[in-house]
Amino acid sequence: LPAEFEAAAPVLRRLNDAGYEAYFVGGAVRDALLHDRIHDVDIATSAYPAEVKALFKRTVDTGIQHGTVTVLQPQGQYEVTTFRTESTYQDYRRPDHVTFVRSLREDLQRRDFTVNALAMDHTGQITDLFDGLGDLQRHLLRAVGKPEERFHEDALRMMRAVRFQSQLSFTIEPATEAAIRHHHQLLEKIAVERINMEFVKMMAAQDRASGLKTFIDTQLYAACPGLAGQQTALTSMLADVPHRLAESGSVWLRLVFALGLAENAVGPFLRAWKTTNTERRQAARLLPVLAKIQAGTAGAWDLYQAGPEFDSVLLPVAAQLGIAVDQWQERYAALPIHQAHDLAVDGRTVMQAAPALRGPALGQAMTAMTQAVVAGQAANTPAALLAYIQKTQQTKDGQS
Ligand code: ATP
Ligand code: MG
Repeated sequence: LPAEFEAAAPVLRRLNDAGYEAYFVGGAVRDALLHDRIHDVDIATSAYPAEVKALFKRTVDTGIQHGTVTVLQPQGQYEVTTFRTESTYQDYRRPDHVTFVRSLREDLQRRDFTVNALAMDHTGQITDLFDGLGDLQRHLLRAVGKPEERFHEDALRMMRAVRFQSQLSFTIEPATEAAIRHHHQLLEKIAVERINMEFVKMMAAQDRASGLKTFIDTQLYAACPGLAGQQTALTSMLADVPHRLAESGSVWLRLVFALGLAENAVGPFLRAWKTTNTERRQAARLLPVLAKIQAGTAGAWDLYQAGPEFDSVLLPVAAQLGIAVDQWQERYAALPIHQAHDLAVDGRTVMQAAPALRGPALGQAMTAMTQAVVAGQAANTPAALLAYIQKTQQTKDGQS
């Protein structure tokens, strides 16, 4: 057993000792068998939520109506979910209610892909009802059961397919892919926030091109906010240098850059995708800088305006575009200051030294000093900056 499972095994044994079935399930089992890094260890059990809670001292009702109780242990926390089926699907979305069942088989049947429908007991023994192990070996994403039905039940699964395709570098089994092509329009019924999450995971993965290609080929993109008619722009991203993106901001920056959006179109587009304010602000601020970097024309002031996300959000996208980023990183690092806070004087100091400066004039003076420092025309010391501002004031007075 991998260390993460070893650590969680006492939870399974506790449930077993009380007469319940309990297994490791979902992504953790898949990733362990692929020797990938394991994220959260999820547990499925025949015990009902109240029965789980009775067995452990410290629990949290994470999603009790869906059967999920989080069990807190010294070595970690585990989501323990009662075996369930999702029988009533309305509007191609999440089921409106779940039914708890006592059989592992029914629980595994409701899962999306065969490689996500494996269960492992505390001894490491695998339950594999749909040849998920074979599909893991073949690197195939295959819907559990009839793909047409499964995507009709829950259209988000189509986005999950392309997300896993990128994350795992797997191929989508032909009948499964055909069903996505057939049902792509049903994605419109899904809450944008949930599409957003899968899209970001797909685009952030090293092998984004494989999922993105299916996303384009099956026309899933046409059911996403603002992407109908954008096949050419989306296809341009298939040529990217493969890099994992750590920040969702990079994903959105890459997308708005590919779409060639005007600066004032970025906000509305990303709002339609229900991105966060931070993601929107970053993309709007970084987009013009990225364009200048690609054109090779970005100057010190452009780099300064990118702000601290220059390294973490912008450069990874530039790298994907095949731009040699080392020189840009050095140039950014070499800026005399990186944010307003780094300036050697603040508004109050300037006002004391030059009482005539207030209101908008003060703001302009601060910007002028910042630009002078960034451009290397003034040293970042109080004396040099106050001298600089007094000199520009005199020039202005002389002019007026
Ligand atoms: P990750 O590494 O991203 O956590 P994961 O496979 O664990 O991948 P989750 O979204 O955490 O994905 O879901 C856990 C498990 O629940 C999946 O492996 C799958 O068995 C099941 N599952 C999740 N969402 C769905 C869905 N929409 N339809 C059917 N089964 C699902
Ligand atoms: Mg998971």
